[in-house]
Amino acid sequence: MSEPATHATPATVLVIEDEAPIRKFLRAALEGQGYATVETVTGRDGLTQAVMRVPDLILLDLGLPDMDGFEILRRIREWSGLPIIVLTARGQDGDKVRALDAGADDYVTKPFSMPELLARMRAALRHHARAGSGEGGSVIEIDRLRIDLAGRRATVDGAEIQLTPTEYRLIATLARHAGRVLSF
Ligand code: CA
Repeated sequence: MSEPATHATPATVLVIEDEAPIRKFLRAALEGQGYATVETVTGRDGLTQAVMRVPDLILLDLGLPDMDGFEILRRIREWSGLPIIVLTARGQDGDKVRALDAGADDYVTKPFSMPELLARMRAALRHHARAGSGEGGSVIEIDRLRIDLAGRRATVDGAEIQLTPTEYRLIATLARHAGRVLSF
């Protein structure tokens, strides 16, 4: 089975990669497998999209024009445990160790095989799903607001508030980090 994830909606993959041919290749392959994709060329946009879209998984190229890939990893790990697979250049073996130490779940070396990348993505998504929401608890309560992360519901004084998926993700992200500054 090529079912990418346990979500009712397609799993969203954020691709942070400056090389257009690789982005195009990844988009075609991922969408062919039923994933939704969001693409950014720069690390700065990647950080913004990670917060705004809260993807199910991130594919991160370490060699970006504007920011060091390890810095991007570190910043995302300040607030999120979502699966991150890094794309490293051939021969940069030290990068793999550094990336794993910086919080990456896995890596593939360019030029990578798509079946291998897809298998690693499935493994990372399964592992993440088993670990629960991974953010330390499935319910967040802030004053009268209660967010049930597992059920994807938000209530105020027990009354459910109707949210679009984007609004829900944004509220859940902000609530997880209430009192902290998110770095974009
Ligand atoms: Ca690159």
